[in-house]
Amino acid sequence: MKYLSTRGGEAVTAAQAIVQGISPTGGLYVPSSFPQLDIKSLNTDYLDTAYAILSKYLPETDGEELRQMLKDAYRSFDDPAVTPVVPLTETESVLELWHGPTMAFKDVALQILPYLMRNSLRLTGENHEIYILVATSGDTGKAALEGFCGVEGTRVLVFYPYGGVSRAQRLQMVTQEGDNVDVCAVRGNFDDAQTGVKKIFASEEARAALEKLGCRLSSANSINFGRLLPQIVYYFTSYRSLVESGRIAFGDRVNFCVPTGNFGDILAGYYAVRMGLPVNRLICASNRNNVLTDFFEQGEYNDIRPFYKSMSCSIDILISSNLERLLYEIADRDEAQVCQWMEQLRDNGRYGIGEKRRAALGELFAAGWCSEEDTLSTIRRVFGKYGYLMDPHTAVAQTVYERYRERTGDDTQTILLSTANPYKFASDVLSAFETPGSDDFMNVERLNGISGVKVPAGISGLRGKKERHLDVCDLDEMQARVIRKVSVHA
Ligand SMILES: *Cc1c(COP(=O)(O)O)cnc(C)c1O
Repeated sequence: MKYLSTRGGEAVTAAQAIVQGISPTGGLYVPSSFPQLDIKSLNTDYLDTAYAILSKYLPETDGEELRQMLKDAYRSFDDPAVTPVVPLTETESVLELWHGPTMAFKDVALQILPYLMRNSLRLTGENHEIYILVATSGDTGKAALEGFCGVEGTRVLVFYPYGGVSRAQRLQMVTQEGDNVDVCAVRGNFDDAQTGVKKIFASEEARAALEKLGCRLSSANSINFGRLLPQIVYYFTSYRSLVESGRIAFGDRVNFCVPTGNFGDILAGYYAVRMGLPVNRLICASNRNNVLTDFFEQGEYNDIRPFYKSMSCSIDILISSNLERLLYEIADRDEAQVCQWMEQLRDNGRYGIGEKRRAALGELFAAGWCSEEDTLSTIRRVFGKYGYLMDPHTAVAQTVYERYRERTGDDTQTILLSTANPYKFASDVLSAFETPGSDDFMNVERLNGISGVKVPAGISGLRGKKERHLDVCDLDEMQARVIRKVSVHA
């Protein structure tokens, strides 16, 4: 198993791909092949399944060590199943991905990534300190801070869009303790922050300055293959869980519906399909920032459109990085073709994949988007009908799934990926039922009163915590920030 860059360049090992985060050509690392996994050989244990999958992609990693890393990483989850599956209707189940310490699905990858990173540093003999730059739309930031806090040989700096995340998300980040972690708000949206981070990665000047300080950059965003890999696991475990509950038999196809921004989570589902998981449709759900819906429906990616701030802020994204990995596959791994599309996107804000490729994608992918009003009415309706409280991202996916089902009549068993605990977005979720007040913690209590759903300790514990990271910068100051923070600690 080697890793290739979507824009060409040398093949690298898994450890090199994880340490580098992004390839020197600006491309993203993808596995040279997709190992096949016989689902019948899997048991119902999360760690065993994770081992079966990760070990195939990390051939240089010692098996016993990998088992120990998995055990240590997922100990922090509050459910023995790690990502439990909850039945909602006769044909629909919810896959809850938010039982980790920061209450969003990013924990599934970011609780294990620091272990993989440390192991990779050892395997590559890297002797620099690794400085992990993160651009976050809200949830990756806290999950990365939590995961890398105190991890020897690493430091983390998180950039989040100023005014572009929920209050709980912001508080989770700015109250973070620890000596190797930093947070800075950026005056811009998530796309701006992510582009800024990618620019720093590509900057020769930044690389040289950091090298002098004994430091090298890496990424904890889903551009890092180490972030995607752990996400493949729950596609298999949730499938296995439906077999266990008698909803499907081995070999039956299922649908997955995924709220999508950077196309990371749903790409992990695509990789699961390539590994042999029987899937009918991967349904790509967006909010008003519906650039991906248009891509799947029209075969053209066009990011020249207004950026909207929404309640499902973690998917407020117009430049969907991981789509590049899917493009690489649909172009039959032709890196020149990928480069051409990416250049067109950079220069003209758009590219087209042609009708033939679009139609081929339509065999596996479906797509849809959901307005703010519909997000709220879905939260209200689903709670009224099934007593299940959804966060805005999950509600976006639910709405898109319901419309897909109505449109197609497809009654295949469907797994809805629930990506955040509703209390992370308490004020917005409350507004589905009544007018929220200005105090977020009061809104948490009111939402608890209405729903009876338990408030996680990670939310109530934010109250009164000291705000430690109040730094704000402009987009053109990001690189200088990085260098300054590194020199302070050098
Ligand atoms: C990050 C995130 C998503 C989107 O995941 P991508 O990998 O960017 O598609 C969806 N929901 C929540 C709550 C998230 O934090």
